[in-house]
Amino acid sequence: MLETTIAGSLPKPSWLAEPEKLWAAWRHEGAELERAKQDAALVWLKEQEAAGIDIVTEGEQFRVHFVHGFLEKVEGIDWAKKTKMGIRADRYVVDVPTVTAPVRCRGSVHGAEARFTRAYTERRLKFTLPGPMTICDTIADAHYGRRADMAMAFAALLNEEALELEAAGVDVIQFDEPAFNVFLDDVKDWGIAALHRAIEGLRCTTAVHICYGYGIEANIRWKQTLGAEWRQYEAIFPALNASRIGQVSLECANSHVPMALLRLLPDKDILLGAIDVATLEVETPEEVATVIRHAMAHVDAGRILPCTNCGLAPLPREVAIGKLKALGAGAALVRRELEA
Ligand code: ZN
Repeated sequence: MLETTIAGSLPKPSWLAEPEKLWAAWRHEGAELERAKQDAALVWLKEQEAAGIDIVTEGEQFRVHFVHGFLEKVEGIDWAKKTKMGIRADRYVVDVPTVTAPVRCRGSVHGAEARFTRAYTERRLKFTLPGPMTICDTIADAHYGRRADMAMAFAALLNEEALELEAAGVDVIQFDEPAFNVFLDDVKDWGIAALHRAIEGLRCTTAVHICYGYGIEANIRWKQTLGAEWRQYEAIFPALNASRIGQVSLECANSHVPMALLRLLPDKDILLGAIDVATLEVETPEEVATVIRHAMAHVDAGRILPCTNCGLAPLPREVAIGKLKALGAGAALVRRELEA
């Protein structure tokens, strides 16, 4: 009960890439880079195990960014044709690559990484992929015409990849969909349908991660505009509860999401964000336990998996380690209370 996991990403060690930065450039090339990524993944497997994390990840050590790590191996994208786009409803304006032809995958993207990681841990292994809606909100379309159509095309590629990851021994496949919190009507119109396409034929556990973003400046400013109560989840939870996705990963630590909204997901496992990724302050186990106890007022403990609000990638390494330990210890605290 109260098995712990993390949203996905962890900081890159300073010898792999420049720390405390999203999109940091690699510090090695070729075979040396591959070895360095593997070494980094091993460090983080060990740190998660030592912290008492039950369902571990490779910390996204093999990719520069959670969306582009996947897109790099997709054909049909023109990386030189940059389009200026306001993503997440204009929260950031960036130059994004453009889809100019039908998208296709040149073989598996993360299969070898999953097989490598699988060989080094006895714990259950989670692997994260970008969700179709979030991909479509991070890339420009000069081919499909309708965002829903482009999402379905990417969902088919994600499905091939997910089947490959499952065959590699991955226990949980999670799709990261921060865009679900922004395009609330699209979630019901085509977002969940695209996720269903992405999980077709999978027998392993499936999850969707829906957060308010990394703890970076643009997101912190956005959150300040959302008012005293954040009710975005309320609009999408009924449709998510009716979906075939098994777990829903949410931002609950220091967030303004009313905990009672969790009642709208009675049939799902809840990956309960109990670690704030927007502060350098390391939570105490007691603070983590408090978030879990609040959630237990609305959700059976048997359906709660204490987790981080979002990825820990932009944080200093020591802070991330502290937060992993707090997560493990906080969950253990509540587990002992329940067993007493
Ligand atoms: Zn997130």
